Amino acid sequence: FLPCTPKGIIRLLRQTGKDLNGLNAVVVGRSQIVGLPAAHLLLNENCTVTVAHSRTRGLASLCRSADILVAAVGKPEFITRDFIKPGAIIIDVGINRTPDGLKGDVCFSEAIETASYITPVPGGVGPMTIAMLLENTCEAFLKQHRP
Ligand code: NAP
Repeated sequence: FLPCTPKGIIRLLRQTGKDLNGLNAVVVGRSQIVGLPAAHLLLNENCTVTVAHSRTRGLASLCRSADILVAAVGKPEFITRDFIKPGAIIIDVGINRTPDGLKGDVCFSEAIETASYITPVPGGVGPMTIAMLLENTCEAFLKQHRP
């Protein structure tokens, strides 16, 4: 079974209807549960994938090369307009509790000015993760009960 959060990310990307083949994807974050599996699934979609992390140099400029930017950092509003290529698709995985409420890793108000698509927080990747968990559960049931 595909891990739920990365599976949901790919489902969201496919839903844009865009041809993902050959697009530059930058994944910020290399965790075992989000960043790395998301990068793997993006490769399966024939994206050209770069994985960034806390030691990456020139992160903003790297992110500006991304047609698809996946933020899985765990820092509220870390990705600002300087990180975003005009027209990019932004997937905000972050869920950060702050005194001002739940915030993503992306500064939504800045990103929405320049991105072609962006997932909101709350909403977006979180509910998709739950949907993918339900889908995986149904698939597991069918695998066990189909002859
Ligand atoms: P994590 O294990 O803490 O990984 C964070 C990653 O971000 C690490 O690879 C880290 O790099 C990188 N990072 C930290 N500071 C950075 C910086 N200044 N520049 C560039 N990269 C930096 O977190 P996670 O489990 O992947 O989760 C990430 C976020 O997604 C969290 O907010 C979490 O709550 C959220 N999340 C949401 C869902 C959902 O369903 N929406 C599911 C899972 C997680 P290093 O490896 O170098 O330390």
